[in-house]
Amino acid sequence: MTRVGILGGGQLCRMLALAGYPLGLHVRAFDPTEHSCCDGLLDRHRGDYGDRAALERFVRDLDVVTYEFENVPADCITILEQHVPVYPPRAALHTAQERLREKRFFAGLDIPTAPFAAVDSRPDLDAAVAEIGLPAVLKTRRFGYDGKGQALLKTPADLDVAWAELGAVPLILEGFVSFDRELSVVAARSRSGELAVYPLVENHHRDGILRRTLAPAPGISPALANAAEDYARRVLEALDYVGVLAIELFQKGEILLANEMAPRVHNSGHWSIDGAVTSQFENHLRAILGLPLGDTRPVGHSVMVNLIGGRPDRSALLAVPGLHLHDYDKAPRPGRKIGHVTVCGTERWQVNAALEQVGQLISEHEA
Ligand code: AMP
Repeated sequence: MTRVGILGGGQLCRMLALAGYPLGLHVRAFDPTEHSCCDGLLDRHRGDYGDRAALERFVRDLDVVTYEFENVPADCITILEQHVPVYPPRAALHTAQERLREKRFFAGLDIPTAPFAAVDSRPDLDAAVAEIGLPAVLKTRRFGYDGKGQALLKTPADLDVAWAELGAVPLILEGFVSFDRELSVVAARSRSGELAVYPLVENHHRDGILRRTLAPAPGISPALANAAEDYARRVLEALDYVGVLAIELFQKGEILLANEMAPRVHNSGHWSIDGAVTSQFENHLRAILGLPLGDTRPVGHSVMVNLIGGRPDRSALLAVPGLHLHDYDKAPRPGRKIGHVTVCGTERWQVNAALEQVGQLISEHEA
């Protein structure tokens, strides 16, 4: 029997478990919250990430541990690593947890990024703006997600306001990229070093939250596809990575700029459950267990739409041709991802037609 432990009991854990069962895996989660959307689906240990005794009970008889979020405390990994391998490796967490370190890492691998500068004081901010120019984006270096902890600076008058809001913690200033669109690349690397890269996908955000993903991204030139694959390879190999990783990119003309990476399965890879030969969740499990990786090719055209804040009528959704519903069994709350749907078809126009229907059903419930 092979037992996989997952830190975090949210929807990513849930989808990992659902991908693991057909492979004969047993999955156990560790999560501090009172309710988890994985309860009823798997064995969950409730505990704090700093609680050594609870972690040691959790890890007993597991074969490998992974995680579904990047803010796992380093000490927690240290405790678990005394018992079993933990993947992705801590170097990936360390890099992805801090935006300045992450941007420097990309730059060190010759992967283009927006211009950036460290900001640790108000004079630093003036110097960074003088160097990079406006518009620019000021971001907290740690714990930013879904567009939180950042401010757009358009004019010099915005500096004081942004500093008052964010200046208590270390920051990074980035040049504002007037990108054509946002893309991401999801890739897996296994314990044996085998690599598998999914096609570039196109992502649409609103209020800093991913709303929909088109997979594969339409209109990608071979040069762009190669660049994405090459950047993914450089990142995975530099980190001696094991598992699935996502890199969020801006496309400007034929250039890709790396914005950030996530050392885990990623929302922009959810389409792969229904739209690729092997899902990102299955490939993550294969990678961390040292199993051969699965084919990442798309089986047609897909669009993934997140269900945010409210739950549309299930029957109405399921009446849409080619639609797959993934309900995370979470209570609706404004801004909360409670599920996603993926519409798949052999032709892009079929998917677009279904998407029109889905869009209407979802917009009535979105909050
Ligand atoms: P992040 O938290 O870095 O993923 O940023 C959230 C969103 O803000 C991104 O998906 C972009 O839409 C936007 N954004 C972040 N950084 C920049 C930038 N340097 N230039 C333009 N837009 C940005």
